Amino acid sequence: MAAEVIDGKAFAEGLRGRIAEAVPAFVEASGRKPGLAVVLVGSDPASQIYVNSKHKATVAVGMESYEHRLAEDTSQDDLLALIGQLNRDDSVDGILVQLPLPPQIDEKSVLAAIDPGKDVDGFHVINAGKLAVGEAAMVPCTPLGSLMLLKDRLGDLSGLEAVVIGRSNIVGKPMAQLLLQENCTVTIAHSRTRDLTAVVRRGDIVVAAVGRAQMVKGDWLKPGAVVIDVGINRIPADEGKTRLVGDVDFASAMAVAGAITPVPGGIGPMTIAVLLRNTLVAAHARAGLPPPAGL
Ligand code: NDP
Repeated sequence: MAAEVIDGKAFAEGLRGRIAEAVPAFVEASGRKPGLAVVLVGSDPASQIYVNSKHKATVAVGMESYEHRLAEDTSQDDLLALIGQLNRDDSVDGILVQLPLPPQIDEKSVLAAIDPGKDVDGFHVINAGKLAVGEAAMVPCTPLGSLMLLKDRLGDLSGLEAVVIGRSNIVGKPMAQLLLQENCTVTIAHSRTRDLTAVVRRGDIVVAAVGRAQMVKGDWLKPGAVVIDVGINRIPADEGKTRLVGDVDFASAMAVAGAITPVPGGIGPMTIAVLLRNTLVAAHARAGLPPPAGL
């Protein structure tokens, strides 16, 4: 039987709808809109597209969007000065610095300068540490969105074998922490893993966050596994065009998995919806209000 295709786009639309419904209550209680500041340094075309879609999505749920587009040759001091200003600005609840940054800027110093309470990307070491010790934290958007889809599909994850392929600070590591909090038995695989196929076959849940087009084949999977494909890879297509594919070979995985997220239309749309969710949660915390329900 073919796997169920997990519709991340539809789930993300539902989440954005619940956020839009929750914003007026925040405005009523605090007298202002929640605000998200996005900082883009340089003119990388992919980053421009991401920043434009973040702006549109933020405005669509009734929040304020503050865009800061800086020149490619912006100095680290100037960027840090802007972050300091956004940290002090009471109308800003979330700060996102679009990555990657140009080479003259040290990414770690920039992420460390963001107020952890406004760190809606969840990349600050304080938030990574809180997640690791199980305290309430800002959780990176892509893994949190992946977890939402897994819980929607599977309910209780307790006791399941989860295999995360990839150990980046942005996706793999926080994903593994979240699955551990859900009482999964978690294996993290990476480029030095021996016999990746055998490791992947243990997984009731497989999360692929590698950045290698169609690497995970259907016959690596345990029959019925739920597969979250985080990868976004552009490959050549017909007539000189290109197309997006994930880290999982979708066609062969469909024949073995129980459920799978497609690329595009799976995890990608969840990432922006969770960014808005994190901004609203940050706004509530900063205003001394209890967290918004149902998000
Ligand atoms: P990174 O390049 O930071 O990490 C990739 C990880 O994959 C590393 O841990 C690396 O291992 C591991 N890896 C590389 N090759 C292999 C291999 N042959 N076998 C097993 N593991 C391997 O990438 P990110 O985590 O930032 O992103 C991963 C993918 O997810 C990318 O395609 C990215 O575009 C996508 N992405 C999608 C998002 C979305 O919104 N849908 C958001 C963020 C990312 P090692 O540590 O040993 O080098």
